[in-house]
Parts: sequence; C-alpha cells; structure tokens
Amino acid sequence: MKADKDKCIGCKRCFPYCPMGKIQTFHKHDAIPGRVYIEIDQDKCTDCGMCVRANICPVKALQQPVEDWPREIRGILSNPLIEFKGSQVPGRGTEEMKTNDVKGSFLPGEVGVGVELGRPGIGAYFKDVEIVSMALMGANIGYELAEENPVTHFMSDTKTGKLRDDVLGEKATSAIIEGKCKLERLPEALKALQEAAKKVDTVFTVEVITKVTQEGEVPIKAALEEAGFWYSINSKNNMGLGEPAFKFYDN
Ligand code: SF4
Ligand code: SF4
Repeated sequence: MKADKDKCIGCKRCFPYCPMGKIQTFHKHDAIPGRVYIEIDQDKCTDCGMCVRANICPVKALQQPVEDWPREIRGILSNPLIEFKGSQVPGRGTEEMKTNDVKGSFLPGEVGVGVELGRPGIGAYFKDVEIVSMALMGANIGYELAEENPVTHFMSDTKTGKLRDDVLGEKATSAIIEGKCKLERLPEALKALQEAAKKVDTVFTVEVITKVTQEGEVPIKAALEEAGFWYSINSKNNMGLGEPAFKFYDN
C-alpha cells in the first residue's frame, strides 16, 4: 500500500485501521509549504487493504498498486478479497480444516495439525513460516502437507518444508501451515512446534482437529495436556453443499 504524497494531508485517520500498527512515518512536503504527508513502511505493510476498505481517507490518497511476484503474496494471504488461484479460495487461500465434514481430509486415527502464524496483530515473515514448516517436516512423523494450501505452494521442497528463497522476506498478516499426521505422532508434532516457537520472531497458534469417538471422547486431549498446551475445545464446521461426509467413513 502506498500513500500519494501529493494528496495526503497527514490527518492520521487511516492509522487505527492498520492491523500492523505504527508503520507510517511523517514527512514534510518539499514543494507544498506546511504540508505533511505519511509514508507507509513497505517492509512492514502486508498489503491487507484494510486502510482502503475503511474508506476514510478524505483525499483518496491511499493506493494499492498491482504487485508482482513475490510481493503479490502479501495481498494473497492478507487481503480477504484476493483469491489464491491455486485453491480459488479468497482470504488466505484456505478454508482451513473446518470443512473436514465435507472434505474428509482427516479420517479417524488421523489428526489435522495446522499452525497459524502472525495473528493477532503482528504479522509473520515467511522466514519464520519456514522455521515452523521445516520443524514439522524435520520431525519425521509422516506429516502430510495440505496440497491446496498456499504456503505449501510457496515451498521449494515439500519433503523438508523449505520455502522458496524469494518469498522469505515477504510478510503476511497471517499465514497458515496445514497438514495431518497419525494420532500417535501428535506428541512429536507438538514437541517440534514448541521448539520452533523458541526460534520465531512472531506468534503462532496451533490448531489440532480430530473426529470425536463414538463415546464422545476427544482423542487429542491427552497429548495436548501432556505437552502442557493450553487448549480450547471448539467445533467450527462448514458443512456447505460439498461431498457427503458419510462416503469417507463407510469402510
Ligand atoms: S495495507 Fe494493511 S498493513 Fe498496509 S498500511 Fe494499509 S492497513 Fe496497514
Ligand atoms: S487518511 Fe489519507 S490523508 Fe489522512 S494520513 Fe491517511 S493517507 Fe494521509
């Protein structure tokens, strides 16, 4: 995102809408006496478009240029109105794991393990996303990456979780690593993530999804408690009109 220095009057109205916070600096306009304009830190801006969508700039100074690769991935992952062509899903390019009841990605005995980096309010550089994806793949637990997820697409080596070198300096409001492993390998996955948390310069949330048993038990609870994770058992399911769930479970 850029602010047009010849239009901006430095009124600050756009500031509260920026989830990255305080990434604008003031400058004196060299050709218009008394005029102050803002400059947006291009390294920290995630091109999320919030400031434009808020529609509060009195002089229409905010402009979102069309970005080339690799900068374009900022908008793909951060702007909910931009669709990721690989999955045709707008807003971070993934429906995440909440559509499992229609997709059947995780069957009984398997757990979906996702990691959402950067939220709330910090954002994540892809060099940190890589630390986490390589930690999961390096744990040798048979972690299978979700193929349609944009972070998977940005990898140069899906066996190791290594991202392309040219995306490492890019940043997103949030980026989600998605995949699955067998239930019995979950403790190792959690351990790898705890180690990765010590190395990244951002925050992340671990998402673990499982089918409840016929007795109503949640099979992942024990592993989470043993690893010392604070957890909240939520159910957020997008049923939609997709494939019927039963087709995945009739064997
Ligand atoms: S595009 Fe998003 S991150 Fe960039 S300045 Fe606007 S609100 Fe802030
Ligand atoms: S709202 Fe518009 S004029 Fe005011 S500081 Fe932001 S870009 Fe400049």
